[in-house]
Amino acid sequence: MSMRAKPLFAANWKMFKGPRETEEFVGRFSSVYSAHPDRRVVFFPPSISLEAFVRSTDQRPDLEVGIQDVHEEVDGAHTGSISALMAAQVGLDWALAGHSERRREFGDDDALVAAKVGRILDSGLRPIVCVGETLEEREAGVLTEVLERQVRTVLASMDAGPLTWAYEPVWAIGTGRTASPEDAGQAHEIVRQAIRGGGGGELADSAVILYGGSVKPSNIEALMAVPGVDGVLVGGASLDPEAFAVICACPLGTR
Ligand code: PEP
Repeated sequence: MSMRAKPLFAANWKMFKGPRETEEFVGRFSSVYSAHPDRRVVFFPPSISLEAFVRSTDQRPDLEVGIQDVHEEVDGAHTGSISALMAAQVGLDWALAGHSERRREFGDDDALVAAKVGRILDSGLRPIVCVGETLEEREAGVLTEVLERQVRTVLASMDAGPLTWAYEPVWAIGTGRTASPEDAGQAHEIVRQAIRGGGGGELADSAVILYGGSVKPSNIEALMAVPGVDGVLVGGASLDPEAFAVICACPLGTR
């Protein structure tokens, strides 16, 4: 586990919540979750709702915000796409790259993810790079190879710098199945070793690695107790303000 970074609780709203629902969420969430100086909370609303999120959290500087995906180029004739520089102009802090739904539905492969991470860093945003194996890959015994390839392709394309990672086993996303604390701990260690071996050197020790995959109020404490788990990326349970408030306020024990 990183000894320096504050635990990070991130909400990936996917294609849920337009601007109106975003404002309603912020109102309810703000009334049940007060700022905790010992942790970070980051939201990834749909792009169309980013400005509503930024506007409605102007009294809550503890609630950070990012974009779910960016295009791999700075600008150009790419109808429907958003560049990292544009995202930075709206006042965002973060950007996701390589979410498994992007990899599966939009063909974001490792090289494309690496290019997107480059643009995100160039624009001054902080990337959260998602990696994770499918069920078939896990059952075929290639977990380590898959995670190493995903991590190293990103690291090989840039000067090593501190990145935030999310280990998200594909079979646990939106399925209700969660990796056991043992599986999560083992996979996080593989990711950390891959960072070390992929040019990340001593940055591996301080790399922030989140766990994602059916995180909910009932399993957050056990997951956050796992050595090497520095926070969580939450999909479904982050859509409910009360549930996500419970997750974000979870006891952190002796970390
Ligand atoms: C995700 O979208 O990154 C995710 C982990 O979703 P869920 O929590 O719904 O499994």
